[in-house]
Amino acid sequence: MARVNENFLKLKAGYLFPEIGRRVSKFCAENPDAKVIRLGIGDVTEPLVPATIEAMHKAVDEMAHRETFRGYGPEQGYDFLRTAIADNDYKSRGVHIDADEIFVSDGSKCDTGNILDVFDLGNTVAVQDPVYPVYVDTNVMAGRTGAADAQGRYAGLTYLPCVAENGFTPEIPKEKVDIVYLCYPNNPTGAVASRETLVEWVAYAKQHGSLILFDAAYCAFVQDDSIPLTIYEIEGARSVAIEFRSFSKNAGFTGTRCAFTVVPKDLMVSTESGEKRPLHPVWSRRHSTKFNGVSYIVQRGAEAVYTPEGQQQTLELVKFYMENAKLLREGLTAAGIEVFGGENAPYIWLKTPGGVPSWDFFDHLLTQAHLVGTPGSGFGASGEGYFRLSAFNSRANVEEAVVRIQNLLK
Ligand SMILES: *Cc1c(COP(=O)(O)O)cnc(C)c1O
Repeated sequence: MARVNENFLKLKAGYLFPEIGRRVSKFCAENPDAKVIRLGIGDVTEPLVPATIEAMHKAVDEMAHRETFRGYGPEQGYDFLRTAIADNDYKSRGVHIDADEIFVSDGSKCDTGNILDVFDLGNTVAVQDPVYPVYVDTNVMAGRTGAADAQGRYAGLTYLPCVAENGFTPEIPKEKVDIVYLCYPNNPTGAVASRETLVEWVAYAKQHGSLILFDAAYCAFVQDDSIPLTIYEIEGARSVAIEFRSFSKNAGFTGTRCAFTVVPKDLMVSTESGEKRPLHPVWSRRHSTKFNGVSYIVQRGAEAVYTPEGQQQTLELVKFYMENAKLLREGLTAAGIEVFGGENAPYIWLKTPGGVPSWDFFDHLLTQAHLVGTPGSGFGASGEGYFRLSAFNSRANVEEAVVRIQNLLK
């Protein structure tokens, strides 16, 4: 009989969102008239912007004619998109990233998981806690951890607690860690990293020969001009950091699928014998062997995000969600809840009233106010006593949700 990769059996059974789904389905089945508002899963609600739609329509028509039809494209992405990214996301910020350092993919979720292919199992890994579960689960699958403890912490991973007391930015570890995941603006806490914080991380990485995996999926939501939008704004980051970016949240591509990963050519890794090698060709080989490119139509849609119309339209989209975030922040604060995030990120991170456990607050909010959020403990042990609400929703739902929470806590 074929044998299973037992690393997968170490994963905690109830992945966060399926468990939420089970509880919501059960409640809805028992209360068919309840009008449930979901502020749980971080999926966008607004349609693709017109610039993207027009570009994709045009691309579809090109596919209908022999002269303009496209088959397999370059695995790393079409030049038109890689150049648009290099110019608009980096050059415009005074950052030098070459188009061929950009690897276009079908998602940052996949990329943050797939990147582990190119790293030895012996590397030590640190994650923020609470954390985007993908980073942890893919390390478990890769075999880098032992079993999980009662709080869901896996043996062998270093957890960097992010709590109100440290402003949700973790202390820099004293000891050497080979690979550190950083997500800013953060999902789930909505925290951002100041320039000084990132300078410290880059210095740490240089000192210890560590690598930073920087997830900037939410950079478009930053409102504060002093916050770096890319880690490469920090001097020296090119040699210590890989950056993950996605069109999912800024341009509503969660269902359309397009993202990219930046692997600078000066980023070096070491062999067992201590020989230095560039990571770029290794990742390039992995990407082109296991991935066959994002569809031409979708890449044209992503390219259109960078046109003047596309920039204006996506800016409006972000503005819309950030107004939702503001309404949630203000409404919850008025209800006496301590809230964090929501100023440079589409997530509100709140302290559960009375410090009740996250899942208790989830059940209370679901059964009494018919609202769905995400229990903080589902993102990690340090998320216990916190709760996440997403600003991705219609204005009417957000306004209604605020009224319901205020009534619940009266
Ligand atoms: C939504 C999200 C992404 C983007 O994932 P895609 O696969 O590109 O849709 C990446 N990182 C975090 C932390 C996210 O929340």
